[in-house]
Amino acid sequence: MAERTLRGARLGGQSFEDERGIEFAARQQVGYACPQGHEFEITMSVEADVPALWECPRCGAEALSTSGIQPEVKAEKPARTHWDMLLERRSKEELEELLQERMDLIKSRRRG
Ligand SMILES: [Zn+2]
Repeated sequence: MAERTLRGARLGGQSFEDERGIEFAARQQVGYACPQGHEFEITMSVEADVPALWECPRCGAEALSTSGIQPEVKAEKPARTHWDMLLERRSKEELEELLQERMDLIKSRRRG
């Protein structure tokens, strides 16, 4: 019974632990501003990866974080075409060889 009284004494205190001693996840307010000038805040865990962009709840535009987080730069690399990817795996000579093989196959099929 003594133990219970002790625990009860802590109720209403400023402790950020629950009775099992687990700390509540800390939260943060992350501000965003969209191109239309709408500003809003999103509450997220401090451990969360804060996204640089968030969809504006008012107009649906991409709102940028006001805390200075920059969106990842993806446009650095030129877009790779299927042809580029193919060339990374095979040399042109190999491709020509493969093409020839295919052509021969098609021809032999047509023949019958
Ligand atoms: Zn907006």
